[in-house]
Amino acid sequence: MADIPRYYGLSFGEQRFPYVEILVDKSIIENDPVCSKNEINRFRSIFPKELSDLSFSDHINAGSFGFLKSIQRVPKCENGFIPFFFQFPEKKEEKCTKCDGTGIDPKIDWDCLECHGGKKISYNWQKVWGLAVSLHLFLKTISRVKYDTSSRLEQLFTIETGVNPGQEGCSVQVTLLEPIIQVLEKIPKGQQIYEMEEAMRTAYLWICGDNHPGRYKVWIADSYGWLNIECPGENAGMFPSGSMGSPRMMQSAHIDSPFQQLALIAAFAALHDKVIS
Ligand SMILES: [Zn+2]
Repeated sequence: MADIPRYYGLSFGEQRFPYVEILVDKSIIENDPVCSKNEINRFRSIFPKELSDLSFSDHINAGSFGFLKSIQRVPKCENGFIPFFFQFPEKKEEKCTKCDGTGIDPKIDWDCLECHGGKKISYNWQKVWGLAVSLHLFLKTISRVKYDTSSRLEQLFTIETGVNPGQEGCSVQVTLLEPIIQVLEKIPKGQQIYEMEEAMRTAYLWICGDNHPGRYKVWIADSYGWLNIECPGENAGMFPSGSMGSPRMMQSAHIDSPFQQLALIAAFAALHDKVIS
């Protein structure tokens, strides 16, 4: 398959908060792509409690996009690409009042059942689902536009996400394209890709907070450059699906929560950084 000129790329970063940048070819933005109202309303009805009352900025060109303006445009253009970014929503941690933050319930002299180690963690579900839906619609909207790029860079991979409540609701599908397949094929079998693991861990701990030792693993599974990813959750991760040729598909398994999905996006953003650096 012929190489596709790059129309978007990803980058993972961390300053005061972890974030992902989406660098979009400027000819796409100049087309002023607009997200379909029907799609937005479909998600309002899927998440009535979280999203039905929220407004949605539907023009990619407008400076911010999505529910709660989750995806922000950076007012500059770098080598023909316009950067957008989203922050990972931060979990809220409070001291447990039942055990006074000790993690031990004095009445039963055993682990407090109200908390994890003295901390109670809660989430802003409007922000979490709002971001997952906005990202889904952003990628879909920019992928639909005809563009006229002058970029000589190549698209490395494309990502599609699903956003639904329930089991397998937050799937991720990645299509690896020839330029990145060539890089992965040169990595020896068994080698871990620490940059992806670290980005996944950083994002997951920031948004969800649970620690899952050993469940942040990315490695090359064979001598043909197949990527395998383990992420938090039972048997959860991303694995090859389909044939060995080019392009190659990777499909998520057991990705039920937006926390897992967003952590996987962080991992692929870090892979993009690694390959182009
Ligand atoms: Zn407690």
